[in-house]
Amino acid sequence: MTEEFRKLRQTVTDAQAALDRAQRDLDRAVRMCPHQWTAPKYAPTVREAYTVPASGGGSDYQPAFQVGREEKPRWTRTCTVCGLVEETTQVRSVTKEVPNFR
Ligand SMILES: [Zn+2]
Repeated sequence: MTEEFRKLRQTVTDAQAALDRAQRDLDRAVRMCPHQWTAPKYAPTVREAYTVPASGGGSDYQPAFQVGREEKPRWTRTCTVCGLVEETTQVRSVTKEVPNFR
């Protein structure tokens, strides 16, 4: 191995070690964060409608057809302190009690 490549490989090794250290430090700090969440933001996963073109020929002909738009509910929230973003597709029901005048 030439000196030039030895130096380049060492630079990558050192940078990888620094990245690993920084990621560990960040992960530890995020675990210790008291998290202050923003209000949930609706951010659905969307697959737009599309058309599958016609294909084949003769007795094997498949006409073009439309595939509808698909939206899956999803919410995100972001910690205003550390920047952690959480996402969920889960919901729970909340029962609310109100005065019942008769
Ligand atoms: Zn946080």
